[in-house]
Amino acid sequence: MSATDAGMSGGYDREWEVVIGIEVHVQLATETKLFCGDRPTFGSPPNTHVCPVCLGLPGALPATNPEAVRLAVRTALALGCEVHGTSVWARKNYFYPDLPKGYQITQFDRPVATGGRVSFDTEDGIGEVRIRRIHMEEDAGKSLHDRVSGATAVDLNRAGTPLVEIVTEPDLASPADTRAFLQALKQVLEYVDVSDCNMEEGSLRADANVSVRPVGEEALGTKTEIKNVNSFSGIEKALEQEIERQVALLESGGTVIQQTLLWDDHAGEIRPMRDKEESHDYRYFPDPDLLPLVLDPAEVDAIRNSIPELPRARRARFVSGYGLPDYDAGVLTLSRAGADFFEAVAEASNDPREAAKWVMGPYQAVLNERGEEGGEEVVPPRALAELVDLVADGTISHGVGKKVLGIMAREGLAAAAVVEREGLAQVRDETSLRGWVDEVMAAFPDEVERCRAGESRLLGFLMGKVMECSGRRADPHAARQLLQELLAG
Ligand code: ADP
Ligand code: MG
Repeated sequence: MSATDAGMSGGYDREWEVVIGIEVHVQLATETKLFCGDRPTFGSPPNTHVCPVCLGLPGALPATNPEAVRLAVRTALALGCEVHGTSVWARKNYFYPDLPKGYQITQFDRPVATGGRVSFDTEDGIGEVRIRRIHMEEDAGKSLHDRVSGATAVDLNRAGTPLVEIVTEPDLASPADTRAFLQALKQVLEYVDVSDCNMEEGSLRADANVSVRPVGEEALGTKTEIKNVNSFSGIEKALEQEIERQVALLESGGTVIQQTLLWDDHAGEIRPMRDKEESHDYRYFPDPDLLPLVLDPAEVDAIRNSIPELPRARRARFVSGYGLPDYDAGVLTLSRAGADFFEAVAEASNDPREAAKWVMGPYQAVLNERGEEGGEEVVPPRALAELVDLVADGTISHGVGKKVLGIMAREGLAAAAVVEREGLAQVRDETSLRGWVDEVMAAFPDEVERCRAGESRLLGFLMGKVMECSGRRADPHAARQLLQELLAG
């Protein structure tokens, strides 16, 4: 990967290689916060979901939420990590107005899980990122700069919300790969239902660490960390800008300073935030209010057994089991609900490949029209399967099938019932076909003559007229055959 490939203007003296490692914060979809009974909500009036524990009032004691632990373990297992039987809660000490305790409860030298991998699609194959570690921690509150004029206000509703932080090795080589990795990660998290992954609401936030080095150099360059990126396009843009800045700096003889940068999504630019602290600055120590987190192996096994087939495996099975092209299998497995839907249609119909085309094509078009999310059904899978079979066995044409689907979606009718009511079945009986063909041949004697004289493209024209004349109900194969016979005869 050269610097030029990363989307830069080029013209540099040397070729640069990009190195990126990501830290992703994922909000776990629990009923209550990590160490108290408040409900994590988004968009509630400020400071309405708080209690002595998440406000950090003196004497309040945290109690670990087992549901959050289960979801963290589930996340780790879905990413192929090793889950540790014992992990330790630690205090990360720092001052910030949105952190009333003066420390964040997190995990430091003994995280809940280590190792693991995420695969993602690249332009020329499959990329892979190693996961370094996953630890649990509580979220901080939020500073609000626009609520009170001339002042910054603090909303602590988010304080204490359970997060996992997923830290990758510096394995990514471009902004585009980083985006693809995040999309693949989000897809896995959605499959295993650990988070709503709503980036706009901050349920999935990525910090991107990036450095560059001359091609061929072994040692990593000095990195900067871009914080606060909450969209896929944002992360790509932020990284491209930062890579360009670093390369320009190094090319002109400067040095990159290790620092934390802030991505301003609105302005579409990065700003320096602070010089980077080292981890010893935080004076981590085990939280004396919390026992180490000890997992019951039987429960970990139960969680492992409850993990559904993951997107990559499912996609591979769609290719081998249903004979789908890899691209189609990828589209059909984007969401778990969508993959479940396709599979129900495929199983109920006689032709999984046709089923795939209908789900991705006409059915998806109806969804788009309605603005439904991938998971919502507009017709039950069995009903769509019946429609697919009616088209496959020639009872109705593909075009009529699409029309039937529209009516099914609007009126909740079965395919056969719509075909019957609207008289849409293709007509194949000789007498009716003969009637339409005769009518067309009589109406276009010139074209008939020229077609007979060898102007074969007029066959298409005459066929079109026959279909029109039949109200598009003529079986096109049978009608074409008859037309050809009569032209020859
Ligand atoms: P820090 O102690 O500064 O937080 P870590 O070693 O914990 O740094 O790594 C944090 C993240 O930064 C990880 O995702 C890691 O892969 C990534 N990273 C580390 N060094 C580099 C580097 N030189 N360039 C790019 N990313 C890096
Ligand atoms: Mg770090």
